[in-house]
Amino acid sequence: MDPPEAEPAAQVPSDAAPPQQPRRVCPGCDRPARVCLCHVIPSPPIPTAARVVVLHHPHESRHKLSTVPVLARCLLNSTVLLHRKLRPGLSPLLDRHPPSIYLFPPSSSSSSSTSPCLTLSQLRASDLLRRAEPEGLVVIAFDATWKHAREMVSASEEYLSRFAVRVCLDFDYDESVDGGSIYDSELLLRKEPYGGCVSTMEAVARVLRAVEANGEEVEQRLIGVLKEMVRLQASFLKPVKPRNKLLKKGKQRATIEENGAGAGAGAE
Ligand SMILES: [Zn+2]
Repeated sequence: MDPPEAEPAAQVPSDAAPPQQPRRVCPGCDRPARVCLCHVIPSPPIPTAARVVVLHHPHESRHKLSTVPVLARCLLNSTVLLHRKLRPGLSPLLDRHPPSIYLFPPSSSSSSSTSPCLTLSQLRASDLLRRAEPEGLVVIAFDATWKHAREMVSASEEYLSRFAVRVCLDFDYDESVDGGSIYDSELLLRKEPYGGCVSTMEAVARVLRAVEANGEEVEQRLIGVLKEMVRLQASFLKPVKPRNKLLKKGKQRATIEENGAGAGAGAE
């Protein structure tokens, strides 16, 4: 019944067989049917006290490896804004200036932002979570290539400075480290330029672990979905599972081939 679409294990690398037929899209998760995630996306979506707002770069929204559409389906209290810049009038929620945090890792070489930055530990020790009750903290994330994300944060910080605190994830930020995520070997969707850069979904999962009452459970559920997303994606990019280092390199190459651009897509 199915078209002669080979099993994932028998797939050859993507450069050998460019798919010509229109892809079937799953109506449940809106992803190509062969990488459907309906079996792992929580139903009903996970309720959280925190309200998650993702500023999604218009270029990134067309990227098939973006985690944002999946994240939005997993979380009940999530909103995706397709814009390059946060400003008044874009979000009624943010225009009320609720206690908020926005996520962006520290810049080591460039000082694109002068805003002070709390680590997750400092956030937990601060009074921000208490001030956010009963409505819940607003967690703002930026989803774009590294270059665009910096531009988006920079363009949005004047608005954000009225009510939001910048938060950085708790790990050493080190440009000399290749990869850098604690989930590095399994969750690398696209190669990020520096250690400490993680997908938007993973970053949000980590923050929710820190701020939600049942944070560990929320994080585990999100990471479970992300792992499955990576596993499915990887199975179409590589016929066999090589060692981690090779997998990362191969995945990056295959991603670039498949999309015509890599993590630097959109950069001039
Ligand atoms: Zn589906």
